[in-house]
Amino acid sequence: MTESLPDLSAVLGRHVTVLGSTGSIGASTLDVIRHARDIYGADAFPIEALTAQRNVARLAEQAKEFHPRAAAIADASLAPALKEALAGTGIEVMAGQEAVREMASRPAELVMAAIVGAAGLAPALAAVERGAVVALANKECVVAAGEVLRRALERSHAALIPVDSEHNAAFQLLEFGETEAIEKVTLTASGGPFHTWALERMAHATPEEATSHPNWRMGHKVSVDSATLMNKGLELIEAHILFDLPPQKLDVLVHPQSVVHCLVSYADGSVMAHMAAPDMRTPIAHALAWPRRMSSPSRRLDLAHIANLTFERPDGVRFPCLALAKACLQAGGPAPTILNAANEIAVEHFLARKIDFLGIARTVERTLDGLAREMNGGAPATLDGVLALDDAARKFARGVCIAAAA
Ligand code: NDP
Repeated sequence: MTESLPDLSAVLGRHVTVLGSTGSIGASTLDVIRHARDIYGADAFPIEALTAQRNVARLAEQAKEFHPRAAAIADASLAPALKEALAGTGIEVMAGQEAVREMASRPAELVMAAIVGAAGLAPALAAVERGAVVALANKECVVAAGEVLRRALERSHAALIPVDSEHNAAFQLLEFGETEAIEKVTLTASGGPFHTWALERMAHATPEEATSHPNWRMGHKVSVDSATLMNKGLELIEAHILFDLPPQKLDVLVHPQSVVHCLVSYADGSVMAHMAAPDMRTPIAHALAWPRRMSSPSRRLDLAHIANLTFERPDGVRFPCLALAKACLQAGGPAPTILNAANEIAVEHFLARKIDFLGIARTVERTLDGLAREMNGGAPATLDGVLALDDAARKFARGVCIAAAA
């Protein structure tokens, strides 16, 4: 380590497990670690485990470069392919959903939770329960299981560092303290690819158009969520749970440049903003090095080049998913779990061209209406309770999608 560099040995020595390493956040995490090794030395962030669902080729390539102790593929039928690809490397190979959870239970000091959807819930909880530092990108697991996660965090004293850019920004801003003087926390939204589209045009939007995000390169599911603004709705619920903020103190502004990620307004009229170029490697580097700061390969912000920052209110008519999520945030209890499950199914059917773009909001709304009886209960307080409700909502939403496609 050269003398001019800060002594980051306490964080650089952390063993890291990346859940969902083959995805957009997973690959960016490994990119940040590759950069840290170039700058601080080859032994920065030793990798304990990497996991994927089906992408054997990418997982094997990552494993050969980063030499984890173990690699797991969730689709058990792909175990022979992964074993063959990693033969002779000494890397332990495991397969199946349970193996992914087992990877999260292994003693890495830091776990990057970057699986997409509620499938990431059990592994993320396993990491929280053993008291790891959990860098959490997987917002669906917070929305689906807020109460379960809150209780697990209380029991284990795990540190949860949000990776979602807006929540990572809020986390950094809230470190200034004076939380009782906060009047409002505003999350920004880019507006997505259909920001200026008329509703009639949105009705015919294709999966390719919905996943062409103007500012961010992301996985398909979160890209569609950005196009419907459901992403911002899920993020409001995520912020409510992570920062214990009441719904009336949470707000959204559309900010197409994606430079300001979060604003915190205080009782004295002050507003603190967090800015960074739209590059997920910045919040990932923050989470990996927390509570210190380290070098990251992310794009730097050039405000003179950007010149103008604009803000506007979201359009609730063209983006009904945001209103549905806000209603679930207000309702609390089981509503966010149902919302999340219905949305996952609706997005899956849209990506498979079985329902149209506006059908996503319709599916979510009908599922929330259809499960009115379940909506009367409290928020599920156990993992089994969350999974049962999630399953019921998925079945209902699937029925809605099949009826719409017929
Ligand atoms: P991707 O779709 O790019 O990657 C998802 C990862 O999860 C892949 O490694 C995938 O494996 C794995 N995976 C998918 N399903 C399963 C399963 N059933 N069991 C185990 N592993 C699974 O998603 P992103 O990286 O875009 O997003 C990950 C999470 O981060 C999401 O919750 C998203 O909302 C959140 N997020 C993402 C941002 C971004 O910029 N991408 C920004 C902020 C938050 P395989 O490759 O084999 O399919």
